[in-house]
Amino acid sequence: MRWRIGDVTVTRIVESTFEGLEAFLPDATPKAVLKYGWLRPFLTDEGVLKFSIHALVIETPSRRIIVDTCVGNEKPREVFPIWHMLQTGFLDDLAKAGFEPESFDTVLCTHLHLDHVGWNTMLVGGQWVPTFPNARYLIERSEFAFLDTEGADAGQEQWARDMNAAVMADSIRPVVAAGLVDLVSSDHAVCDEVRLVPTPGHTPGHVSIRIDSRGESALITGDFIHHPCQLAHPEWSLTSDFDPARSAQTREGVFSGLAGTPTLVIGTHWPDPTAGRIARDAGAYRLDI
Ligand SMILES: [Zn+2]
Repeated sequence: MRWRIGDVTVTRIVESTFEGLEAFLPDATPKAVLKYGWLRPFLTDEGVLKFSIHALVIETPSRRIIVDTCVGNEKPREVFPIWHMLQTGFLDDLAKAGFEPESFDTVLCTHLHLDHVGWNTMLVGGQWVPTFPNARYLIERSEFAFLDTEGADAGQEQWARDMNAAVMADSIRPVVAAGLVDLVSSDHAVCDEVRLVPTPGHTPGHVSIRIDSRGESALITGDFIHHPCQLAHPEWSLTSDFDPARSAQTREGVFSGLAGTPTLVIGTHWPDPTAGRIARDAGAYRLDI
């Protein structure tokens, strides 16, 4: 799947898909979501939420950027059995789409959760080495600081702290050690067409990616929204959000700013068709595909 925004192209490379997430979005019951006809592409017939794990490749006239590097292969993730010790053909799929790892100049992580940083590294001879050896890896400064102190916030559950530590060890520290990481601000301009936008709440330093070219615009969400049902209910935060109230505030702010505009919104976990435009709908919002 591919979109054009002026001179910029965005290509989706899927690693995996799954259904569910009830434990993290308990408000989104089948009864609550099936009443929205426009949501049907993003639901099973039974009203279970559908999700995708994918990377988005941004090509500008001068840059090749990969946004969020999925779960990765061979990473121990016992807490999430569907992502534990994966063996996928993600790098083959990336190459088949015309993108060799060596050809990227930039890796962008919207935040440092396991399903967004996995292919930052790969296992070679028992060592985690950078998958994109010629890229600068851009990480928002406060997001890095939060994990660097092992997410030591007392409010975080133990499993989340353990997961953060594992992610740091196999997906972040090896690229830091290789000298490939630049810590950047939450409104950093990557190039003329691409910049970060602060969208905090899901994690402390979460960012989304804004693309502007020749009068056209797009926003890559990251995880400030996980599923389009949160357009109908911006107040539905994930139970695992770092600051659920802030994440709800972020959604309302972004949605109200984009509603009725031609900005293409590309969802980081939205299954087919993955992108659309936001419209106001009955006191909240919907996605027009
Ligand atoms: Zn995610």
